Amino acid sequence: MTDQIEHIESNVRGYAKLFPTVFDTAIGSTLCDQSGKTFIDFFCGAGTLNYGHNHAGAKEALLRYISRNGIQHSLDTVTTAKIDFLTAFENTILKPRQLDYVVQFTGPTGTNAVEAAIKLAKKRTGRSHIVAFTNAYHGHTLGSLALTGNRYFHNDLYGSHNDVTHLPFDRYLGDFDTSAILAKMLSDSSSGLPLPAAVILETVQGEGGINVASTQWLRKIAELCTANDILLIIDDIQVGNGRTGKFFSFEESGIHPDIVCLSKSIGGGLPMSLVLIRRDDDVWQPGEHTGTFRGNNLAFVAATAVLKHWDDPHFESQIETRSRVIQAWLTETCQRYSSQSFDRRGRGLIWGLDVRCGKLARQIIDRSFDAGLLIEASGADDQVLKLLPALTIEMPLLVEGLNILDRAIAASIQ
Ligand code: PMP
Repeated sequence: MTDQIEHIESNVRGYAKLFPTVFDTAIGSTLCDQSGKTFIDFFCGAGTLNYGHNHAGAKEALLRYISRNGIQHSLDTVTTAKIDFLTAFENTILKPRQLDYVVQFTGPTGTNAVEAAIKLAKKRTGRSHIVAFTNAYHGHTLGSLALTGNRYFHNDLYGSHNDVTHLPFDRYLGDFDTSAILAKMLSDSSSGLPLPAAVILETVQGEGGINVASTQWLRKIAELCTANDILLIIDDIQVGNGRTGKFFSFEESGIHPDIVCLSKSIGGGLPMSLVLIRRDDDVWQPGEHTGTFRGNNLAFVAATAVLKHWDDPHFESQIETRSRVIQAWLTETCQRYSSQSFDRRGRGLIWGLDVRCGKLARQIIDRSFDAGLLIEASGADDQVLKLLPALTIEMPLLVEGLNILDRAIAASIQ
């Protein structure tokens, strides 16, 4: 297996955070490698598999769709698969939440949604500036990269980012309310901040180290946007689709974003991204913002199948039950290692254990891998262990995964 990995790495270049094995099959919250070793999944394909691997409903719907010759293109066409998805999305997600958005399909991957969102905001407002936040992660194409905080991903050669100002995210300065900085800068004509077209933010910064925005902060930012005709873009690519316990991460705060970016788990494991646009802000002409794979029928089929979870009145409480198990474990772990000053942050089923040191996190990840658990880290130094199990993970697997992590931490801190 090591030979195969080396061959792949030297020929096509892989993914830097590679898990050193060759995966073969996966179902629910477990993956199996070529040797037959099973792994519990706390990684979820970087958040693309909130409903688990090879979701039974999605798989069945896809097989049925393919067997009746469904594979076709749908950029400039209306297909049954597209209609089914839009109908399900409207009836299951938008209407019960009294949300009135139009849906624009933006391509296969998250950054496509972010690019579309910022272009639309610029066109709609006639302004070019965007406010993003420290530690933000919005993607790696040039527009979304400019919004991404981590300097590691930047390079002067990629162009200047004159149209973006990064302001401190909530709690970046401890207890200080950083929304006051935006308020002051907007009202001060000599602050140097041009009136922006949009403010873009993640309500929980996933790649940035599981930083959770408070409800008050979100509301203040939303109020400032409304008062100044600035569009509020919520990037729910990682923390939408139920990750925080509700379908949208902003639901509980009561804010009403102008644009919402969705990707990752929206496609039920297949590539798909979209933006939700407030009807009044939809200023695109047909074909003005386009791309060949904007709308993939197979993804529509899988996406429609996984949306059925949201018809289940117990789904949210099942997420909450799993969340409580993780929270209890994190609290106990932080107490046990109080001398290390670990921190725990998160909501719903996105939790971070900040072990304060990237090297230590790496050791824990490697030990977990050896013992059969897949987990990743995020944060500026990759120092935050990221607990991201499927929303549907079976309780015994969740507990077993936490036990593996327990042992990996104990063995790494000696
Ligand atoms: N926004 C957020 C919040 C993300 O977490 C990511 C991916 N980690 C992206 C945008 C970019 O998505 P993609 O990698 O699919 O382009």
